[in-house]
Formats: sequence, structure tokens, C-alpha cells
Amino acid sequence: MSDLAAPRASEQQRYTHWDRARLSVVVPIGVIVAVAIVCIVVAVLSSAQRADEVAVAHERQLFSGALSNYGLRVLREVDSVASSQSATENIRRKFDPVWTEQRAGAWLAAYFKHDYILVFDGKDQPLYSMVGHHAADKAWFARAHPELAELIDFMRGRSAIMPGAIRLGVAHQTDAGVHEHAVALRSVLGQPAAIAAVAVGSDEGIATAADTAAPIMLSVKFINDDVLAGIATQIGLTNLRAVGDGAVPEGDFVYELSAPNGERIARFAWTAKRPGAEIVQSVVPFIAVALAGFALLAAFVLRYMRRTAVAIAAGETRLRHLAMHDPLCGLPNRIFFGERLEAVIDEVHSSNAPAAVLYIDLDHFKDVNDTLGHPVGDELIRNVTLRLSHTLRGGDLVARLGGDEFAVISSVGGDAVKIMALAQRIITALCAPYNIGGQNIVIGASIGIAIIDRNCAGAADIMRYADMALYRAKNEGRNRACIYDAAMDADLSKRKLLEGDLREAIENNQLRVMYQPIVNKSGETMTGVEALCRWNHPTRGEIPPVEFIAIAEHSGLIVELGAWVLRQALEDGKAWPELTVAVNVSPLQFRRADFAGLVEKTLDDTGFDPARLELELTETVLLGNIDTAEAGMLRLKALGVRLALDDFGTGYSSLLYLRRFPFDKLKIDRSFVLSIEKAADAAAIVHAVVSLGRGLGMKVTAEGVETADQHLFLRAAGVHFMQGYRFGKAATPAEISARLRAPQDYLPVDVPSAMAG
Ligand code: C2E
Ligand code: CA
Ligand code: CA
Repeated sequence: MSDLAAPRASEQQRYTHWDRARLSVVVPIGVIVAVAIVCIVVAVLSSAQRADEVAVAHERQLFSGALSNYGLRVLREVDSVASSQSATENIRRKFDPVWTEQRAGAWLAAYFKHDYILVFDGKDQPLYSMVGHHAADKAWFARAHPELAELIDFMRGRSAIMPGAIRLGVAHQTDAGVHEHAVALRSVLGQPAAIAAVAVGSDEGIATAADTAAPIMLSVKFINDDVLAGIATQIGLTNLRAVGDGAVPEGDFVYELSAPNGERIARFAWTAKRPGAEIVQSVVPFIAVALAGFALLAAFVLRYMRRTAVAIAAGETRLRHLAMHDPLCGLPNRIFFGERLEAVIDEVHSSNAPAAVLYIDLDHFKDVNDTLGHPVGDELIRNVTLRLSHTLRGGDLVARLGGDEFAVISSVGGDAVKIMALAQRIITALCAPYNIGGQNIVIGASIGIAIIDRNCAGAADIMRYADMALYRAKNEGRNRACIYDAAMDADLSKRKLLEGDLREAIENNQLRVMYQPIVNKSGETMTGVEALCRWNHPTRGEIPPVEFIAIAEHSGLIVELGAWVLRQALEDGKAWPELTVAVNVSPLQFRRADFAGLVEKTLDDTGFDPARLELELTETVLLGNIDTAEAGMLRLKALGVRLALDDFGTGYSSLLYLRRFPFDKLKIDRSFVLSIEKAADAAAIVHAVVSLGRGLGMKVTAEGVETADQHLFLRAAGVHFMQGYRFGKAATPAEISARLRAPQDYLPVDVPSAMAG
């Protein structure tokens, strides 16, 4: 049982919040981010591809436009010669070979780099030819003529098409059905070329009927490397070239030049521009930054979540702790205590090693709270906690059950002596004065103990036993510990019954007040009386005040009872003008804010002289807040009444702090007087107390004086007044009046033993 205070293993729970959070939040975030990234990449790639496609289409368009332009230029160049007036003169009207050579053939070859220049007459017979600076021979004609003849047929209107050729858009037809110009791209002798034909003199207003017989100037200009280089520069293509059937490197674009009938004229290739790659290249850094951003964001989110998860876990641990512990002092609370108690009971049942529950109740804690405020009360609880923890053994569990209630489960065992020793240590520790915020505070503590042994009942019964023992401890005078025994059960029910009866007795005026004489030191003169309450129960007979006063205090009836006794005592006391009337005041009465007012009103109502009233207070009224107690006393003193400290020697007897309180009288408790003859040091203490009281300017009364020896001793010690059976028991008012009339009849008769001997 050495680990009573240790938390249960079940408290160390595993927290899986983080794992759950990771699944429920991180996975969706990850998926969203991944999808977003994929979308972005796809968008970039597809737009890059689209840009590539657009660029290629554009280049294609430019290139085919350039080829058309090339053909049309060739036509314009031929036309510039063939349509001139001098050509009409020198070729059409009268063929002049020299002029034709110089102004047509050499001119077109030299200035426009035409490869073949031919002139055919109205019957399509060659008039002139220049093929690479020479006139064409028969063999050349045999090879080239069919391809040239197709264009001439078209010019003459004999054929509407030119197989294997792309006709460029200048097919202006005359009324006679002939064409004045024609230009086409086609393969000539296996090489791609622009081939253009112009009817000579067509612009010269010659009758169109004659056009069918007009000479035709025909020119061929190959699309060779120089031409391609020109086009490439013009439209900005890279590495433009003619390719045969061979493969081209990847990344090169191939342009097939084919006639409408599908016949291939040529194949060109160039290095295609790839703006898509540029786009990708230029976008990649941004995507990288965005990805890094996402990663960072995800990292932040994860970190934040991890922290939150940790915080939540810590919060839960704290909540658990809060649920099981007292927030003010940090001790385990009633729930924790209940669990532990049951576990300990189980252990005891199996191991047979007894344990004990100590139920601790602080006296007057409520007064501290009410008068000094809750912050001081809280601090007091913390101080009590500290003192308790220091007093207990390592294995003992201490819990706070509520306001001013604490409980201990101790493994000290079933030995009553050891348990009582522990309880006494606790009481001593808790009753030492506290200093909180400059306030001196003294409280008390009562302890009820229940032993947990093999035969014990459940936790609820154990607590009920401890509670009953606590009740007994309080009634036996507080600052005490009591161990539960079976008789207490019977006691408790008897008490409950008596409580009801007492209530009725107060209501029905069944109580009486008797007066015990208080005499001067010689014992010969009665100087006062103490009012003592009596209750003659209709069936149980005379019930001793120790019993019913305790019940009255426990139930709160003491307030009414006390007020009644005070009024009765003052009424009766009016008959004895030479006597002081002492009335007992319970701490519960004294603490009530209206107590001084009640005393004042009772004095007024009865017309009793305040100087003859002596209120007897016990040290317990001083517990709690010393300042409030002092203020209450001063209010009473202001009425003119006197104050006596009753039962001196049974409480804390802190002589030092007694100095602060305005007592007029000290009443040395009967137990001291009783022990004078038995213990030498008791006599010494009585001596010291008497001289202290005198030193503080107080009168000293000795209570319970029964023998002549006690009387002699106390008189020698300097006691001012005596009270006890030697001088008379509590008597009725009539008896007191009788005694006042005949004092000599009441003198003590015996003599001290020393004198008798
Ligand atoms: P107390 O105030 O100390 O009253 C003195 C008690 O000692 C009285 O007991 C009295 O009868 C008893 N006594 C006096 N001389 C002797 C003696 O020589 N020998 C012995 N053995 N006893 C002596 P009582 O009347 O039984 O009262 C007991 C206690 O009950 C009182 O103790 C007082 O504290 C309380 N009490 C009685 N009446 C009232 C009351 O009206 N109000 C309050 N608050 N308490 C009361
Ligand atoms: Ca008294
Ligand atoms: Ca007393």
C-alpha cells in the first residue's frame, strides 16, 4: 500500500488525436494540392503543345505563302518582258533572235536568275530557248517537253488542268478561252520549280481572236538552295532545305509540296520553332515557386496541427486532472478519494493489513472566510494542505472533500495508539497559528477515525463511521480525535431524538436556570453566581448540560437557548444587587453579528446593571479571525459588561495571544484544580497561571474547588475567587436569595488536611 497517492495506471492514456487529425485533414489537403499541381502541369503542357501547333501552322502558312509569292514573282518577271511593246514588235510581229536573246533570255537569266527561258510560236514550235546559257538541244526537249507542253496546253485553252502542278491564282481567261498568263509550281526534270508562261503582246490591244496564235514566253525557275535560303531569311525559318525521301531529325518539320492529284512535287524541312518549350521553361520557375509555397503551407499547417493536437492532449490531461483534483489546493478531490477508498478496502479484504480513514474537519474556517474574505480563506486552505502533506507519511493519501473537510487514508494499520498519535500530530500541526496577509489566524481541527479491517463494510459505511466519530470528537470539546466504535451508532440516534426534544423544551419553557455561588478567596462571602442551564426531560429525567449543550450547539439551537438563559439570569439576578451574574456564551452565539445588540437589548429590557453582568467566553471564540474576535469583545465591553475567559487551561492556552484580548477575568479549569494534589508540576503551572493573570491585570477564579486543601493551595497561590462544590452547587434563585439573607449558614465546615492533622 505504499503507492496510495500514486495515480492509476489507467490514467496514462494514449492520445491518438494527431493520427486522427492526420487522416482527416492532411490527406484531403494532400489530395487537393496534388490535384491542383497535376492540373497546373497539364494546363502548362497542353498550352505549350497548343502553342507549338499554332507556331507550326503559322510557319506552314508563311512557307506556302512564300512559295506562292515566289511563283507569282517569276510570273511578274516574265510578264515584264513578254508584255512589253518591244517584245510585241520583236517577237510577235517579226521574230528577232538577237533582241530575244539580249532582251529576254539573257535578261531574265542574268537579272532574275531564271533557269530556262523558252519562246514558242503560235503553233507551239520553239522559237527560242536558253537552258543554262545555251540553246536547248533535242535530247533536252525530249525530256522536258511533256512537262512544259501541259502549261502551253493550258494557256491555249486545250486543257483545263495541269497534272502534277499547283496552279497559282492568276488564271485570267479571254473570250477566246485562252489564258494570257499562267504560273504553277511543279517538278521540272525531277526538281521543284516555278514555271510561268505569258502570251507575248497580250496587253497591246491585239484582237483576242489572234491570242490563240500568240507566241508564248515560258520560264522555269527552280526552287533551289539559294531560293530556299532567301525564303528562309524572308519569313524567318531555320535550316530550311529540300529533303528527299530520307528521314529528318526529330524536331524538324516536314512540308510536303503536292499537286492536287496527290503527286508529290517536293519535300522541304525546317527546324520548327517550339514556343511551347519556351513557355514551359518560363513557367517552370513559377510552378516551382508555387510548389515550394504549397509545400511550405502544408508544412505550416502540419506543424500547427501537431501543436494543436499536443495542446488538446495536454488540455485533456489537465481536464482529467481537474476532474480528479481540487483546483484550489491541488489535492485529490472527493471523487478521487472515493475511488481510492474502494481500492484500499478491496486490498485490505485480500491482504488483511488494516488501514484507517481520518476525517478531518476544520473548526472556524467559515469565520475566516466570512470575515477576512475568500482570498484569505483560500490561502488558509493552501497552508492547511501544506501542513497536512508534511505531517503525513509518503504512502498516505490526503484529499480535500469539500469546504473545510479533508480526509486521509493511512496505512498506519489498525493499532489505535498509533492512529491516535498520527491524529494528534495532525491536530497539533493544523492548530498552530497562521499568518496570512498580515493576519494572525488560529483555527481548530477535529478528526473522526474509522478503521478499515478485514470485516469492514463498504466505502459509504466507512465514511459514515468516520463522520460519526467526527461528531463525537467535536462534542467532546474539539481539537480532538475519536475512533469510531459501535456504540456511536446508538449514540447518534439518541442524539437525534434528544435534538427534537430539546427544541420542544425551549419552545415550551421546560428549561430552568440554576445558580452556582462564586465566593471570595476566604470562601466566606458570596460575590457572584454563574448561571447554569438545567433540563429535566419528561421521560429521561435530568440531562447533564455537557450532553444537551453539545446537541444545542450542533443543531444551532444554542442561539435561542443562550438568549433565553441570558434573559432569565438577568431577571433573576435583579433580586441580588450585591452579586455578579455570570452567563455562559457559546462561540456560536458570540460569532453572530447581532450578539452585542442582543445583550444590550436584554440589559435594557430587564433594567439590569451592565457592570454586574459577566459573560463567560471560551478560548474557541478566539479561533478564526483574531481581529473580528477582538472587535466583538470590544463592542461588548463598550456596553459596560465584563468578560471572563472560561475553562482556561483546556484549549491552546497561548498565553501570549491572550494578552491581546480585553478579559477581565480568568477561570482556571476544574481539571487543573483537580490535578494540584496529584502532580507537582500542575501546582507549579497553577502558580504560574495565577501570577500571569494577575500580571495582565485580570482577576483569577478557580473552578471546581471541592476540598479544603485545594482551597488553601489556591488561596496561597493568589486566586481571587473560588467556585466549586466546596462552596455550593448550582442552586435555585430562591436558595441563592436565602443564602444571601443568612450567609453564616453556608460556610464550609471542614478544614485543610494539614490543619486537621
Ligand atoms: P462550565 O461553564 O465550566 O460550568 C461549570 C461546571 O462545573 C458546571 O457544570 C458545574 O456544575 C460544574 N462544577 C462546579 N463546581 C464543581 C465541582 O466542585 N466539582 C465538579 N465535579 N463540578 C463542578 P454543569 O452545570 O454540568 O455545566 C457544564 C457545562 O455546560 C458548563 O461548564 C458550561 O460550559 C455548559 N453550560 C451550562 N449552562 C450553559 C448555558 O446556559 N449556556 C452555555 N453556553 N453553556 C452552558
Ligand atoms: Ca462557565
Ligand atoms: Ca468552566
